[in-house]
Amino acid sequence: MSKQAEKERRVAYFHIPFCETYCLFCGFYQNAYNPREEERYINSLIRELEMVADAPAIKTHPFHAVYLGGGTPTSLSATNLLRLLKAINNALPLANDCEITVEGRIHHFSDEKLFACLEGGANRLSLGVQSFNTLVRRKMGRVHPEEEIIERLKYINGLDQAVIVIDLIYGLPYQSMEVWEKDVKQYIDLGIDGVDLYQLNIYKGGRLEQAEKEGLIPPPAQIPMQADMFARGVDIMKQARYIRLSMSHWAKTTRERNIYNILARGGRVCVPFGSGAGGWLQGYFFYQDNKLEGYYHRVERGEKPIALCMKWPEYNDLFRDIVGEIDWKGTCNLRATGEVYGLDLERIFSPLLEQWERVGLIKMDNGWMDLTLAGEFWHVNVCQGLIDYFMLAKREIKGG
Ligand code: SF4
Repeated sequence: MSKQAEKERRVAYFHIPFCETYCLFCGFYQNAYNPREEERYINSLIRELEMVADAPAIKTHPFHAVYLGGGTPTSLSATNLLRLLKAINNALPLANDCEITVEGRIHHFSDEKLFACLEGGANRLSLGVQSFNTLVRRKMGRVHPEEEIIERLKYINGLDQAVIVIDLIYGLPYQSMEVWEKDVKQYIDLGIDGVDLYQLNIYKGGRLEQAEKEGLIPPPAQIPMQADMFARGVDIMKQARYIRLSMSHWAKTTRERNIYNILARGGRVCVPFGSGAGGWLQGYFFYQDNKLEGYYHRVERGEKPIALCMKWPEYNDLFRDIVGEIDWKGTCNLRATGEVYGLDLERIFSPLLEQWERVGLIKMDNGWMDLTLAGEFWHVNVCQGLIDYFMLAKREIKGG
């Protein structure tokens, strides 16, 4: 914090670790929402922010995106949403075109909370819908039926005061291909600015896996079906002529910029605040105390509540360039990227690239590694495969 920040585009992340319900598919749930805890938490979060507001790493360079994530930021009261957003505006040097996102859900997102977000300067609302289908929603622990979700989204979008983005998940139990197509088409019919189409993640030992084992729900879609659903989603978005902003994100118009996700996934500087938040700064990754009591005590003592800190591995800049480009555009110029780092990446990765090309994951074109549709579905594994292979080949690289 005592070192000046480098002049690069960067983001700040604020974690709200409370949820009003525990969705069956979720791997991010931390604490049940309770109003007394909320008060104490927001006081600590604002204190943590104000503690570092004058540090050189914070004040010497603007922030280009701020993200309130969780958990469920919209579970906070209107008063605390406004307090927090105002504190962020006062403490951080925000760029004039800073993207300020509040993540949340329709459940309990009253007009009072909505207008508090807008008054506090939020210019982007990211709302988790997951599926419009009432049966799918109810079985996953989501409260409102399809009609209510649609009505509320129409109203929020109709205000025309902020970018509205929703999340949809494919592969959920009870979600046939027909239901999935309806979900994506419903999003388009609503004329909402942006959408994320996410693959269902089944966490080992998680509640979804457990519910399936106990026979309470049918099995979720397996990988081949998920791949078909991904392909169908991509196709519908293509036919609607939406703009693709990353492998999983689309925009209706240029109003949606997706700045936070593009910068954070590309490993750009991300200063985290709150219990359970993680980020990157000055060549280190760090993760903050996810136990509320520990978090409160450390903030009360005037400390940044870091629970784990790790120096970026050698070649981290190379990895974030590769991952950032693949996640953003589904391609990577291995030749040009390698030249920046003095490495012949096409040669280093050649066994991997040849195999991937053979099985239809990529197409090589004059130094560019372009993902095919199958490669796009597997893009996270492709990125990890490149990193793992590079680490294995490191000794050979060092030997020239
Ligand atoms: S999906 Fe959202 S609201 Fe549901 S448990 Fe996870 S973080 Fe909480």
